[in-house]
Amino acid sequence: MADHFPPEQGRVDPPDMVPFEQARAEVLARLPPLPAREVGLGDALGCVLAADIHAGEHLPPFANSAMDGFAVRSADVQAASAQRPVALRLAGEVFAGSARLPRVPPGGAVRIMTGGSLPPGADAVVPVEQTKLAAGGDPGSGEVLVHVAVGQRAFVREAGEDVREGTLVLERGRVLDPAAIGMLASVGRRTVPVVPRPRVAVVSTGDELVDPGDPLGPGQIRDSNSWLLVAQARRAGAEAFRCGRLHDDPGALRKGFALAAAEGDLVLTSGGVSVGDRDYTRQVLAELGDVRGMRVAMQPGMPQAFGFAAGTPLYGLPGNPVSCFVVFELLVRPALRRLAGHPDDRLDHVRVPAVLGEPVRSPAGKVSFLRVRLEQEAGEGSPRAFLTGPQGSGVLSSCVAADGLAVIPAADRELAAGAVVEVVLLRDDPPSLVP
Ligand code: AMP
Ligand code: MG
Repeated sequence: MADHFPPEQGRVDPPDMVPFEQARAEVLARLPPLPAREVGLGDALGCVLAADIHAGEHLPPFANSAMDGFAVRSADVQAASAQRPVALRLAGEVFAGSARLPRVPPGGAVRIMTGGSLPPGADAVVPVEQTKLAAGGDPGSGEVLVHVAVGQRAFVREAGEDVREGTLVLERGRVLDPAAIGMLASVGRRTVPVVPRPRVAVVSTGDELVDPGDPLGPGQIRDSNSWLLVAQARRAGAEAFRCGRLHDDPGALRKGFALAAAEGDLVLTSGGVSVGDRDYTRQVLAELGDVRGMRVAMQPGMPQAFGFAAGTPLYGLPGNPVSCFVVFELLVRPALRRLAGHPDDRLDHVRVPAVLGEPVRSPAGKVSFLRVRLEQEAGEGSPRAFLTGPQGSGVLSSCVAADGLAVIPAADRELAAGAVVEVVLLRDDPPSLVP
């Protein structure tokens, strides 16, 4: 087996590490949902509904035809059959949207399209397939031959049959999915009260960073974290934007963080939260508010910072891209979902049991989150988890191939192939799980 784990020799973990669950709880305890507001229906997808919604009108609003056919008096066609059709006099036409409705007289019929309002006099619809226009007849006059008997209200969609005015159609707390958006439109809502999507301002820190597309000088690397974090935040349902790439300079950091705090409901920054000589992030953040560094007993992603800068919550993530990725999915995502009004039991990614396909190692005292690919064998219960490659915190390709994060508890130093672990699912549709 290739050794996918970075060496641990000589590494001394600080004594003040916070257990993962405690860090998560401490962050969430300080983040209430954003205040609710009314948003346009076009912006509401994925938001959490902030109030119960009762139908303001009947759906459908009026009795109408479920078929293209003929509106009739059912009593007139009681004796109709294929052998002995009944002839009815045509008395006009009704289209979807017609407001002026011809009356159906005894012995008469009105041609009607799906969605057309049931005209006065009619109490049923005969589908066009069960009729034949009499020779020489045209759609608006002449005669139609009806080949079938229909009961009262046949093929009629009654007013309020889907939803009656005043009914509770959507409950507060539910996520507005496409069906819910369709329902809101159907009952006449143009706007809807929701917990808004959090606006996330993302900054990167580091003298070594250059944007993709710009020339790469000696010692420089691409700023990937800001792009990564914006994408992760959007996938988590937030509105996110890049808000500056800051140099390792206290003055620049001060200005940059203040701007980001003014622009966002939450600031994400990466890099500089560790203990390097130019890691000013924590120092500057402590000046701007009560942002404190924390060492979370997890791997990757131990050095982090959280607090409020100029009144805005701010999460400081480690600079290594894999650490950034993992800390986001496990700690920042629930924080964003809390801001967005999701209930406590829907903050985190779903976890599924999986069987390790190979042995793994994990540092003592920290919970490890290993990037794994899942494979579902036909006939096996749990999927099997395989490492996506080297697990160093700079190896972003390990994330690209990952369906999930295998959780190796802090107490375990190694686990053999065949051990059952929990896997945090990162995708809704892991490609390797789809048959
Ligand atoms: P730091 O936490 O600032 O010491 O950074 C740790 C490592 O992550 C260093 O190798 C940095 O070059 C790298 N890093 C920091 N920020 C970024 C970024 N925005 N994109 C890619 N790599 C980064
Ligand atoms: Mg740095």
